[in-house]
Parts: sequence; C-alpha cells; structure tokens
Amino acid sequence: MKSISILEKRKSQIYRKGTDEFDMTCEKKSLAGSVSQRACVFCGSRVVLYPVADALHLIHGPIGCASYTWDIRGALSSGPELHRMSFSTDLSELDVIYGGEKKLEQALLELIEEYKPNAAFVYSTCIVGIIGDDVSMICKKVAAKVNIPVLPVHSEGFKGTKKDGYKAACDALFKLIDMNTEPLEKIPHSINILGEFNIGGETWIIKDYYRQMGVNTVAVMTGDGRVGDIRQAKKACLNVVQCSGSLTHLARKMEVEYGIPYIRVSYFGIEDTSSALYDVASFFKDDPDIMKNTTRLVQQEVKNLLPELEQIRKDLAGKRAAVYVGGAFKAFSLIKALRHIGMEVVLVGSQTGTKEDYEVLKDMCNPGTVILDDANPLELAKYVLEKNAHLFIGGVKERPIAYKLGIGFCDHNHERKIPLAGFEGMINFAREVHETVTSPIWDLVPRNGIKG
Ligand code: SF4
Repeated sequence: MKSISILEKRKSQIYRKGTDEFDMTCEKKSLAGSVSQRACVFCGSRVVLYPVADALHLIHGPIGCASYTWDIRGALSSGPELHRMSFSTDLSELDVIYGGEKKLEQALLELIEEYKPNAAFVYSTCIVGIIGDDVSMICKKVAAKVNIPVLPVHSEGFKGTKKDGYKAACDALFKLIDMNTEPLEKIPHSINILGEFNIGGETWIIKDYYRQMGVNTVAVMTGDGRVGDIRQAKKACLNVVQCSGSLTHLARKMEVEYGIPYIRVSYFGIEDTSSALYDVASFFKDDPDIMKNTTRLVQQEVKNLLPELEQIRKDLAGKRAAVYVGGAFKAFSLIKALRHIGMEVVLVGSQTGTKEDYEVLKDMCNPGTVILDDANPLELAKYVLEKNAHLFIGGVKERPIAYKLGIGFCDHNHERKIPLAGFEGMINFAREVHETVTSPIWDLVPRNGIKG
C-alpha cells in the first residue's frame, strides 16, 4: 500500500509519545478538506437530548439533517418512546427564500396535538442559521398556546464544533430545570446522573448500583429521561457527571445557580466504575451505611468477574488496540479496561479532547503511542497500519476503517445495542473484544501488513 501522508496543517494535532515534544493543538474547528470524523453542532445537541423519551424532538431544517436519527441509537426507554420518532420541518427552496417560521409553528402545533409530549425541543440546523428564522420567538409563541415547555436548541451545524452542540443542549436542559419554581427542598442522599444515555440499558445498571448503595436518583440526564424528573433536578444534593465533555457545562451552571456540587466519573471498566461508586459514597459521609453497602457491592461484583476476565486475558495478552472516541474521558477508561484484559493501546484519539485531556493520555500511554485530536479516516488508517493494531474501538464511522484494514472492531458509541458500562458492561466488553480479536475470519482476509 502507498504510504499515507498527513496534511501539513494537521501535524500539530498529532503527537507520538517518546519522540515528539508535547505541544498538541486541539479545541479548534476542523481543517477544511480534512474530512474530520467529528459530527456537527446539531448532532452534538441531539446526542445529549435525544434520550428524553417523553419529549417531542423536532429538527428544523432540510430532511437530510434528520436522516441519522431514526432508531439508530441504542438509547432505551422503560416507558414512552416518542424519542424514536425523527420529526423534521423538511425545509426546501421556497422556505429558504421566504423563511420557515410559519412551517415550524404549524409543525409544532400539529405534532403536539397528535403526540401529547411533555415538552418539545426544536433543533436549529445550518440553513436556519443562514436564513435567520427566529426559532426562539416561535417556541415562545407555541409554548403559550399549548402549555408545555417548547425549547429552542441553538445548534446550527456550522457554528462551531460538536462541543458547541453539547453546550446548546445543556442550555436547553437548564431552561427546563429552571422553569420549575417550586421551593427548593433537597432530597436526602440524592444525586442526578449526568452524561449517561442508557445505551443498551446502561442507565438501569448504574441506577441499580446507586439503589443498592442507598443513594436516591432524582433525574438522569438524559438516559431513559423524563421531562418531569429533569424538572426536579435542582432537588438533588450532588451531580455525578459521566461523559464530562457533554454535560459539564450544565453541572457548572447548576453549581453556580443552585449550589449543587459535581464530580466527574466514568462507568467504563472495573477501576473507574469502582472509583465512581466510592466517590459518591464518600460524598455522603453522614451516612456510614452508604460506604458499607458500596464496599460490599464492589467486592461482590469484582469477585464475580475475575475468573472469566483472567481466562480472556490469557488469550489477548500482547494484542494491540487503537481507540478513537468522542470525548477523551472515555479513552482514559478504555486504556485501563484494555490493560485489564492484557491489551496495549498503541493509538488513541478523540473528537473533542482538551489539552489537559491529552496530557493525561500522554502520561497513561506507553512510549511510541500515537495520540490524535480530531482525526480523519486516512490518518486513522495510517496509524492503525503503522502500529499493527489487532483491534479498533470506535463508533459507526470507524467500523468500516477497521473492517477494510482486516482487523477486529468493538463499537463503543451510541449505536451499539449492548451495555458496556458498570461491572456487567466490563464483562460484555471483554467478551466482545475477545470474540472479534480471536475470530478466525482475520486469517481469511488480506491483513494489509498487520502482523500477529
Ligand atoms: S445541521 Fe448542517 S452540518 Fe449538521 S447535518 Fe444538518 S446540514 Fe449537515
């Protein structure tokens, strides 16, 4: 294969431990022509808000923006499933010329009448930013008529990076919370779970750990989310933030406005799940039973996992992995989880990492590891080949890269259908990695230079 070259202006976003001086550039708009793996601002906001299952999600824009939403994601609901519908105002040429406000108002009134949601989110897309529809004004007008919160999400695709979409979603969630003017009475030993999206039922696993610990969950934002629960969120004593890139903005706002402190956690892998639960238990020092319950829970869960993990570890010892994910916090957990099953990470990157995140990654990785910010498919292919990875962990856009190169793949993004969080998720993860890496299929495909 011809060697793949790197665009000159991308070089400062790629770092190789041991040879380069660490001075990574990140948190900037994608380079034009680079064909970034990143999603747009609108997609960032959808990722966060979509799992609110009893809300109407209306995409104000051309139909193409709505195409990636029909039941592709594995965010489950234990009740209503309105979030699975992908509504769009389907703007066309005439709307672009004359404006889409009327169409938006009509669509909202019709859909709210038909589906009786508890709230509505209206997403602005690129074209709405260009033609200048006043989405906030229409939302206000409709809310006054229908008596439910109708919230604009200012997520015009081109206005920044996926991170700006997270921020737009956080602003909409904050508005929803802040609309509740009931007296602020704290619920004892209670938390909100932020940045957990119930992919394959993960929220249910995590909530059950907290239940066993004696901790009350007020609201989850947004896995298996309900408008009514979110509106109670200011009654919690602590915000526990996973996927910190997406919901930290909301946690910070809630700290400033309601004095609710927050901690950052991850529920991927044994170490990080255990730390998450112990950190929450430590917060509620006034009730020693919570720590006792947590210790018992963690010990039992780890004991159940270890024999099978040990077996898997023997088969995977020395195998190499490439990891490319949305937020860098998940990458930290994955490096630790892969070490548990005997694998080394040789390539790691993220769409939205910060300089501090990449510094942590640099310290965690072995010499020679390549770290990438806002990569494109060619760069990923180049380093997967160069580092002889046996496995690629990523999302829907990384899957074809792995299969074209003839290596195993593990989906760790929102499209998967099985839970990978918590102790139960760790065993699912280990099994999936084991199955794909040791599959006999790789002996039958051209390996593009990947040696055993
Ligand atoms: S919002 Fe813009 S970038 Fe995002 S899907 Fe729609 S057209 Fe594409």
